[in-house]
Amino acid sequence: MTKENTDSEPDSAADADDSTAARDRSATSTNLDFDTMFDENEESQGLFDDLLASEPIFENKEVLRPSYTPHELPHRNDQINRMATILVSALRGDTPSNILIYGKTGTGKTASAKFVSQELESTSQKYDVPCEVEYINCEVTDTQYRVLAQLANKFIDKNEARIESKIENLEAVRDRLQSADTPSDLANDSDDTDEEVRSLAAEYDDVAAVDAAIDDLEADLAELDPVPMTGWPTDRVYSTFFEAVDYHERVVVIMLDEIDKLVEKSGDDTLYNLSRMNSELTNSRISIMGISNDLKFTDFLDPRVKSSLGEEEIVFPPYDATQLRDILQHRADVAFKSEALTSDVIPLCAAFAAQEHGDARRALDLLRTAGELAERSQADLIEETHVRQAQDKIELDRVVEVVRTLPTQSKIVLFSIILLEKNGVHNINTGEVFNIYKRLCEEIDADVLTQRRVTDLISELDMLGIVNAVVVSKGRYGRTKEMNLSVPIDETEAVLLSDSRLGDIDNVQPFVQARFDND
Ligand code: ADP
Ligand code: MG
Repeated sequence: MTKENTDSEPDSAADADDSTAARDRSATSTNLDFDTMFDENEESQGLFDDLLASEPIFENKEVLRPSYTPHELPHRNDQINRMATILVSALRGDTPSNILIYGKTGTGKTASAKFVSQELESTSQKYDVPCEVEYINCEVTDTQYRVLAQLANKFIDKNEARIESKIENLEAVRDRLQSADTPSDLANDSDDTDEEVRSLAAEYDDVAAVDAAIDDLEADLAELDPVPMTGWPTDRVYSTFFEAVDYHERVVVIMLDEIDKLVEKSGDDTLYNLSRMNSELTNSRISIMGISNDLKFTDFLDPRVKSSLGEEEIVFPPYDATQLRDILQHRADVAFKSEALTSDVIPLCAAFAAQEHGDARRALDLLRTAGELAERSQADLIEETHVRQAQDKIELDRVVEVVRTLPTQSKIVLFSIILLEKNGVHNINTGEVFNIYKRLCEEIDADVLTQRRVTDLISELDMLGIVNAVVVSKGRYGRTKEMNLSVPIDETEAVLLSDSRLGDIDNVQPFVQARFDND
């Protein structure tokens, strides 16, 4: 990319610095009794004194958050250059090859793709070539209908804005035509007329022609019909999208991030349809950039889709510990006050994340969390212990998130296991869980599943790493599962009780008694 472009980058890290730390600290407002606070003795410390006295650790915490798109991506030059080399055709008005990007999570795929798309769009504006990039995250937008509807609506919005501004310009031309003596006066009009209006004025020499053009545009405007989020037949969504893209000449790059999620959930129809559009479009051209976390995802694709989508393939390999150190160091320089870290912090974060398949997201989370823990404990420095605590905290957060999003039935099963453990039962068997499960279901009016289904739910909890279950043989009594909880009990219970349905159960002792009923 050319050097001048870097000037147009939005919100540089320096601009974003608005001393978040200071704001955080003043955010809480309490009813302090200032009289007593100051009267009792002069040395008495107020709520904020200690906090204010300690040196803040963060200079700019934002740059460590996942939402931040870095402008510099160390160790991704090759991949970024390859993307740019392929996409530059769009700036020449040609259709770029489709690209498929692979790599495990946290290898910088999304960050690199967004960086390249910002550069592409800003260069296209600079040279005034019609090139647009649309980004869709298929983890969120995960059906053909939704992908096409979202794309259609984005292009409809853009077309609408374009038509409206054109109408405005034409109206300006008409006003001028009506007041000017000769049309050429207008075309040569001076400074206060905008360039668009002037070039339009050259095309029209009488009011009637301008009126006709405005009428045409207004008719187009009236036809723009946004796609509702559900309800239309797919054909209609597709043709609406098709017409919206083809409304005027342009090259469109469609980035489908987490494309493997889309294919897993709804098959490859969307990709098939998108990849065949160019043969029918007359004004515009489409190029697809698919990004996948799953290296084997093309195995599930129709061979035609596979060959069309994978015209170019770019692999994002995992980072090793040394590369992760560089990435962290770049961010740390902006994120922290100087000398806020001991020298072993970054290497340790990098080493932990390298074990986690070289995941830069994990590395950054660790560094940010370590910083927050240090800040909270009013330490002057982030040290190795903070990183270790951060590692534990992140692991716990993962568990909490998994438990929080379990279906209600699984929550009831898990709650039964917790109640048993809390009452000192070890090596809990399926029958014991089922007895308590049944009572809990009756208490909160939930459907009672069969013992078989409950056994399946236990297996799922096992796979999620929440319980550890083993099958044991009971001789002639057959086989049963014995299980223990493999996550911290109090935190897990708290998450379950925060579910309003489970939270309604107030006295659990009677349920635990139930386990003896059928023994
Ligand atoms: P992916 O899409 O491959 O899962 P992301 O692009 O979302 O990974 O990257 C995860 C996090 O790591 C993001 O916060 C991103 O900014 C950061 N990151 C990844 N690679 C780099 C890099 N080379 N330099 C700086 N930050 C990076
Ligand atoms: Mg990503």
